[in-house]
Amino acid sequence: MKATEIVKTKNSQWLMFGRDVDKPEKIIDTNQYMLVCGERALLMDPGGIELFAPMLASVLRYASVEHITDIFASHQDPDIISSLGLWDQALPEAVLHSPWLWEGFIRHFGMKNIRYAPIADEGGKIDLAGYTVEMIPAHYLHSSGNFHIYDPQAKVLMSGDIGAALEDVDAPLFVDDFEAHIPKMKGFHQRWMPSNEAKLDWINRVRKLDIEYMAPQHGRIFTGDNIKKFLDWFEQLPVGTAIGRTAQARQEKK
Ligand code: FE
Repeated sequence: MKATEIVKTKNSQWLMFGRDVDKPEKIIDTNQYMLVCGERALLMDPGGIELFAPMLASVLRYASVEHITDIFASHQDPDIISSLGLWDQALPEAVLHSPWLWEGFIRHFGMKNIRYAPIADEGGKIDLAGYTVEMIPAHYLHSSGNFHIYDPQAKVLMSGDIGAALEDVDAPLFVDDFEAHIPKMKGFHQRWMPSNEAKLDWINRVRKLDIEYMAPQHGRIFTGDNIKKFLDWFEQLPVGTAIGRTAQARQEKK
């Protein structure tokens, strides 16, 4: 499991964990994130049960168990949070911030000690001893209850499955050539994102934010001008394409 610092400010440090060459085959490669500020740390989309052991070893190099007080799960998927039952033993005092909609489902991953802090549909804030991050709604992108984390000080948007790309396990960390990156994202966004209306609503919200790093849960991180390029590209991309495909298949059968 590789650990990389994305950005460091006076008060905080953003880290990414991923590109795990030891991960079992056929498991999608995921990016896990951690924000460390002083004696508090927020672990974001900590990943699947399969990579709990390397994740725990990696995060403890940057924050101690007592300091990892908060966990965020953008939505309910297994590659996001199926490790919950194990974090529950490692971080018994932690709070899990996750969509209210998914509480009854996420608890199936096991949590006896961690407290579930349900996020209301309109989002909210996480206060890490004076360092505040925002939970930005991203419903239906792709999950029906879905949030991203925006850090206005470090100017990072942790964008969950938006901006995700299917990459090799040794792919570079940052998008360099946007045009060359499109084929790695296109099919993923068209199939996994169901709603054009939800997409436009999210783009309008995100365009108002000052973002220097857009960090998805799979693939590479976008910086600077590539963030604008991504939003423009995503805006014109038709999503929810499986509907068209099944209708077409039905037609062809006739
Ligand atoms: Fe997902």
